[in-house]
Order: sequence, then C-alpha cells, then structure tokens
Amino acid sequence: MKFNALKGFKDVLPDDSFRWQYVEQTMRDLCAVYGIREIRTPVLEHTELFLRGVGDTTDIVQKETYTFDDRGERSITLKPEGTAGVVRAFVENGLANGPQPTKMFYLNCPVFRYERPQAGRLREHHQFGIEIFGSQSAYTDAEAISLALSVLHALKVEDLIVHINSIGCAECRPQYHAALKAYFAPHIDEMCQTCKERFDRNPLRLLDCKVDHCKEIAKGAPKMLDYLCDDCKTHFETLQCALQALQIPYEIDPTIVRGLDYYTKTVFEIISNHIGSQGTVCGGGRYDKLIETIGGPSMPGVGFGMGMERLLLVMQAQNVEIEEPSRCDVFIHTFGDIERAFVLCMQLRKAGVKAEFDPLNRSTKAQMRYAEKLGATIVLFEGEEERKNRKVNLRRMSDGEQKEYDLAMAMEALEATFVAFNLSK
Ligand code: ATP
Ligand code: MG
Repeated sequence: MKFNALKGFKDVLPDDSFRWQYVEQTMRDLCAVYGIREIRTPVLEHTELFLRGVGDTTDIVQKETYTFDDRGERSITLKPEGTAGVVRAFVENGLANGPQPTKMFYLNCPVFRYERPQAGRLREHHQFGIEIFGSQSAYTDAEAISLALSVLHALKVEDLIVHINSIGCAECRPQYHAALKAYFAPHIDEMCQTCKERFDRNPLRLLDCKVDHCKEIAKGAPKMLDYLCDDCKTHFETLQCALQALQIPYEIDPTIVRGLDYYTKTVFEIISNHIGSQGTVCGGGRYDKLIETIGGPSMPGVGFGMGMERLLLVMQAQNVEIEEPSRCDVFIHTFGDIERAFVLCMQLRKAGVKAEFDPLNRSTKAQMRYAEKLGATIVLFEGEEERKNRKVNLRRMSDGEQKEYDLAMAMEALEATFVAFNLSK
C-alpha cells in the first residue's frame, strides 16, 4: 500500500527546511527588536471559540473548518487562524492583569482550512502573526504594519503594496449595515444562496463574496469610509499620518473587509503582484471587541497573520537567494577502520565541528563522492601508516590541495577553524 499526504497538505523536506529556518530567524530577530515575545497555543480548541471569535457568518467557519467530535463527544476544531487561540490563552491565564500593552507573536502556527488547493492555497498552511492587546492607539496599528513590512524588507521581498481600510466600530457600523441592506435589497434575489443567508445577519459579508455576479453587484455598494463616526475617522487619519511619518506608501482600498468577523476600525493587507491572484502575503487589522467576546475584559487589540508558504513563494518568484548553511566541515576517511573514523568524528563534533564519516564503510571512491555531496570543506585522511606516525593528511576540497600534518595539531586547527557553536558555554 502506498501512502500519500492528504490533499492540500505538504511536507517540508530537508533540502528546503533551511529556507523556512532563515525566514523564521528573521521574524524572531525583528520581533525581539519590537519587544514582542512568543506565544504558542494548542492546535485544537473548542469549536465554540471559533464560532464566537472568528464569526459564524464567515466563510472560514461556515465552509472551511476541520471540525469533529473527540472521543468524549466534544466538538473540537483545528485552528483555522491564529488569533482566537491567543486571545483565549490571554484571558484564561490572566495576562490582562499584567502591564499593557501585551505584545505577542506566533511563528509557524499550523492553520487548517478546507479550501480548494491551488498554488499558494493549501489546506494546512503556516502563519507568522502578532497580536498587540491593550492599546487603542492608531500608532499601534502603524507599528504592526511596519513590523510586517520590516520582515518582508529584511527578506528582500520587493514590489509590495499596503492596502488599508477602516470598517468602523459598533457605533457607526449599524448605519452602514442599514445602507448596505438598502443597496442590496433590490438585487438580493439574483445573488447566491450564501449572500441571501447573510443579508440579514451580516450584510458586510456580501462585500466579500467570491461569486462573479455577486462581486459585480457589490462593486456599486456604499463605502464604509463614508459612514465612519468621528472617533473612527480620527483613528483612520492618525494611522495615515503615522504611515506617512514612516514614509510607508499605502493605498486606501475600500473593498477590503477581511474574512473574519472580529475586525473593527483598521483592516489592512500587504499584497505582492509576483505570484498572481494568491498575492496577499499578510492580512490583519484591529479587533477592539474580540477579547470581550471571548469572555475577557473590554480591551482593544490589533494584529496580523502572514502566510509562510505564500511568503516563500513570493521570495522564490523574486529569486531571493538564501544560502544553505554548510552541512559538513570535515569528512573523515580512515581507509577501512570504521571505529577509528567514528572516534575522530565524535572528537570533532564534541568541539562543535560539523564532522562526518561513512558508517557504511564504502570504497574510497564512494566515500569521496559522498563527502562532495555533503559539501565537505576538508577531508581528513588517516591511513594505517599515518596512524602509526600520528600524522594525517588534510585535503581542501575547493582546490584539492593536500598536506600532511601532525595529528594533534591538525585536530586542534580544525576545531579552532570550524567551531559552529561552543558546547561548553
Ligand atoms: P485569502 O484572501 O488569500 O483567502 P485570507 O483573508 O483568508 O486570505 P487570512 O485569514 O488573513 O487570509 O490569513 C493570513 C495570511 O495567511 C494570508 O494573507 C495568506 O498569506 C495566508 N493564507 C490564508 N489562507 C491560506 C491558504 N489556504 N494557504 C496558504 N496560505 C494562506
Ligand atoms: Mg481565505
């Protein structure tokens, strides 16, 4: 029987994982600069959390979650996004009582959505994201956007467009909902079943429908920006001033509503035009009611999620080169004495040198081919005769130059040259 990964699920193989690690390290380093600490939350949560947190009129909850009953007949769901779990952890662990704002990031968070798999759209993908709780300031929104851009710039991703919009708050959204309903009412009969169902409960979702005819109708819909209350208007203006102060170019895009119900005020997307229609690498916004909705105190929040796979696709499309770290500094060949090779190899490894030997004890020719494949910098040869004299030969693989050395001196020099990390630290 042959097994395949599930449709829309992907392996990250050793030849590729260094790219992920490079991207992850960049994210970690920049989060440290921004004073953001890591949070890790479980991959499964009670289904109710997402119904409340993400919203039961969203595509994600209505069509995309992996939901099932566990053996205790509780309905549980694999994370379809990163924020709800972080908010649950924040509330459950009383972090709201600590100094505010609380700034957290998650890295490589697995996200599960039952979507139609295609380039840049998987059923399991991974997100890097941040959440900042406890600040209603538009400068915090600008901080989030600037961190996302810093990560992308550090990774040499170019030609990005920042789209921003404001979708108002509990104060001004009802008027907008009314305006949307008035606009859609004469067309609703020709719209899809999902739109019909959402018309009463959450007309904002009608703007996010992917059906062509519905999209066409939605084009003429009133814009939230024309309905913002004074507070939301000022917030949106301050955000723009903050972005201008940082010289971050942006476009106001009144069509972004985002796929999650929890957003208030700012929503934003960072888009690359290098990978076609799946070009949104980062999406985020403000969610001032979410913490309360999930049973916590009334506290504002803002954050974003960045798709790791999509980011890597964009980097690949832009030919961003990431150097693969060396796999082998020193390859040891002892012409048949496998235990001797093993002992020398371990001596170097103990000192933090990337050393290898051939556990299969193949022919010299085969071992040299293997050493080359591993990208060894130096091959250390120790034949029977040399061993008696406590000598070794070192060959530099780049130009083939080879010389005989005293064994102890050679080992010391190799240790001094190649220490990848100091194990005694
Ligand atoms: P899209 O409009 O592309 O469906 P979204 O609005 O559903 O994106 P978010 O929920 O904001 O996306 O998720 C944040 C980021 O995660 C997206 O900007 C994207 O980079 C990535 N992402 C979302 N869905 C997928 C997926 N199915 N496969 C791979 N990456 C994804
Ligand atoms: Mg989506």
